[in-house]
Amino acid sequence: MSQNPECVFCKIAAGVIPAAIVHQDATAVAFLDIHPLAPGHLLIVPRDHITSMSDLPAETSAALARLFPRLGEAARVAGGAEGYNILLNNGTVAGQFVEHLHFHVIPRRGDDGLGFRWVSGSYAEGEAERIRAAVTAALKR
Ligand code: 5GP
Ligand code: ZN
Repeated sequence: MSQNPECVFCKIAAGVIPAAIVHQDATAVAFLDIHPLAPGHLLIVPRDHITSMSDLPAETSAALARLFPRLGEAARVAGGAEGYNILLNNGTVAGQFVEHLHFHVIPRRGDDGLGFRWVSGSYAEGEAERIRAAVTAALKR
């Protein structure tokens, strides 16, 4: 188990600084986001100091993901919401601020005003096949 003594989420996982914890087990800790986008906004973090999905062992990933259904539903109910988003900002360019991997669980209501800029495009002729081949090649690395 590796921790970073400077890391805020390592400190929360270790109980060094307080947080409103809703679940903890051998691998993961879940707690309320201190600046919620909606009531019930949770963060799910591994106990290990892992910055990026690139460094996340599959077993740890599975241990985090297995919490999604129960924590998602609990956050939805507690937040009086109709649905929820599960979101991971992986890398600064993707909006990651805290460099300890974390999944956001964000309860959603129809009138919450939370937007998401989703500007979809389309593939040019042959491009989808090139990208498919690039992804399958990367999977073999
Ligand atoms: P990111 O942009 O890195 O995906 O999101 C980091 C999240 O961590 C933010 O939503 C922020 O409010 C939350 N956060 C940052 N510091 C603390 C803290 O000390 N305690 C808690 N509970 N949440 C924090
Ligand atoms: Zn950490």
